Amino acid sequence: QATAARRDNYYAASQRKFVPFKDPIVFQRGSMQYLWDAEGNKYTDLLGMNVCISVGHSHPTVVAAAMEQAQQLTHCTTMFYHPTPAHLAEELAATMPKGHEWVVHFTNSGSEAIDLAMTMARSYTGNLDLLALRTAYHGPTASAQSLTGISGWRHPGMPGNVAFVAEPNQYRGIFGENAGAAPYLDEIDQTIRTATTGQIAGMFVESVQGYGGIIEMPKGYMSGAAERVRAAGGLYIADEVQSGFGRTGDHMWGFEADGVVPDIIVMAKGLGNGFPIGAVVAKKEIAAPMAEKFMFHTYGANPTSCAAGRAVLQVIREDKVMENAKTVGAALLARLHELKDKHAAIGDVRGRGLMLAIEMVKDRKTKEPDAETTAAVFEHCRSQRLILSKSGPFQSSLRMVPPMCLTLEDVDRVADGLDQAFSSL
Ligand code: PMP
Repeated sequence: QATAARRDNYYAASQRKFVPFKDPIVFQRGSMQYLWDAEGNKYTDLLGMNVCISVGHSHPTVVAAAMEQAQQLTHCTTMFYHPTPAHLAEELAATMPKGHEWVVHFTNSGSEAIDLAMTMARSYTGNLDLLALRTAYHGPTASAQSLTGISGWRHPGMPGNVAFVAEPNQYRGIFGENAGAAPYLDEIDQTIRTATTGQIAGMFVESVQGYGGIIEMPKGYMSGAAERVRAAGGLYIADEVQSGFGRTGDHMWGFEADGVVPDIIVMAKGLGNGFPIGAVVAKKEIAAPMAEKFMFHTYGANPTSCAAGRAVLQVIREDKVMENAKTVGAALLARLHELKDKHAAIGDVRGRGLMLAIEMVKDRKTKEPDAETTAAVFEHCRSQRLILSKSGPFQSSLRMVPPMCLTLEDVDRVADGLDQAFSSL
């Protein structure tokens, strides 16, 4: 109560808005995929505290690595040398497609990395115009907002030079159900011709859209988009802030599903498992022109966050985290399909690995989005001690992006909880 009152009194309205439940929960402790509130109740975190918790809350390996680093030297500004960020840069570069020299610029967050990627693309190409998808979310800074298509996330007065293309949503996209990539690729060409100078700096694509409601890119879309944007002088930039680190189950990076090699890759969230860190990984020659001017993030390459990042990569490797995301994600998706067969309120279930969503509709034929049912199921799940998140441009999807240590037993509990929630409506 005291925490809620303090928050109400001293948080700006813009930050208060995000208390998701009718009655606030005060979380006190986390371990792997679970959280405990101040009263000792245990919850399953299907939100992964906003996709940040890749390998598990307070994962012992990550905590130990960060503590050891913090005790030695908490911060060392990038003007000086420090081994930990240099190691992490090397390790991140090694996760990238072979045949290119990859370099890393560390930031503190995903949106800072997006800003940096925008600047890098404009510096390298000499062009200004950018392309992004209509249901994209790329972050809260002014530049990242300018790339964010979902209007509910865009505030007045953001910078320009961004043209939006239709998202290749295979459920409710403008070209109809299961239209594939082709019409959306034609639309990119049309947009370049009609809504830009024709000289493109870059195109940003989330390899699987997160806040857009878990929208996968259909086969051929990412590679086809890269071809088109490169033909117009631009770069292909993959936003892996949500879809990276093995979350899709098949690959370390979401773009690998389509065989495309991006020019720039943006990452954050899961890299730090809760410690603030972001990074831009770019082909060496593309990052080079920016060195003509200064670009410096005070906390970028912070050794404590980088130590956490190194531990995350180690855990992903050693604990077969991606393989777990694949197996457990497939089991959860199968249960979600069963729920769809049973409950008419579910219009669609989708996703890959541990990046899944169910979308609620008022009517399966008209596909009218149902934000009210989504909110009711979400709130009911809270009483089942399941933390989900509402997403999508209509707030009609429930997103599941848990720590990737979720188990098959958790899957049964989650699916049973959702079943009860739908049955209670
Ligand atoms: N890109 C994507 C796909 C995101 O989901 C987010 C954060 N939700 C961002 C960028 C921005 O990251 P941050 O909030 O760390 O600035």
